[in-house]
Amino acid sequence: MRASLVASLVLGIGLAPAGAFARAQGKPELLAPNTPLGSGWSVLNSQAARSVDRLADDWVKTSRDLFDHPETALRETRSSAALAALAEQAGFKVERGVSQMETAWVATWSSGAGGPTLGILAEFDALPNLSQTAGAPLQEPAAQGAPGHGCGHNLFGVAGLAAAVAMKEALQAERHPATLKLYGTPAEEQGIGKIFMVRDGLFDRRVLDFCEHVPETVPSGMPLQRFEGCE
Ligand SMILES: [Zn+2]
Repeated sequence: MRASLVASLVLGIGLAPAGAFARAQGKPELLAPNTPLGSGWSVLNSQAARSVDRLADDWVKTSRDLFDHPETALRETRSSAALAALAEQAGFKVERGVSQMETAWVATWSSGAGGPTLGILAEFDALPNLSQTAGAPLQEPAAQGAPGHGCGHNLFGVAGLAAAVAMKEALQAERHPATLKLYGTPAEEQGIGKIFMVRDGLFDRRVLDFCEHVPETVPSGMPLQRFEGCE
């Protein structure tokens, strides 16, 4: 069940780029929007799902680690560093400390052969005074008065990273030209991280951006959940 949850997470964003890839290469789109999956799209999806399945334990472990070490806006040094390091290990080039924010970064991977540029967001800040014991059905602070991931950004950050890595592996396997940018955007709870990054042009010149947010129905401490939109 866990692997299928994670796979659905990536498939949610793995599907949409296929049309963009086709357009960028001057090929006819494999499917018009809102049509059922066809064999052309399913190749990329299958590749992405295999990547997620293979790395699912790592993603779950990282998500739980972030949940256990919640950090509030612009103080997310540990969480930011952990996700950036994993992106780097996966073959992305990471620029840290962008837009004058220590915990903001942009991780980039490119096939080196043109194609569209796609963006994925990863957020990781916690909320003050929301410390919570993972899996507890009622409010049960792990540390009284401490911050906590009441908004599920432990999932948000790892989901974005997992999606970026899965997309990269699928693109490489299928030799699709593209550039991926994974944005480590701090201080979502204060609403300021992305604003400075937009101001500085870090989101310019992309075909699509993807992000997710955890629905409020997810039980506390659950490792990953499907994409539900963006906050
Ligand atoms: Zn949130």
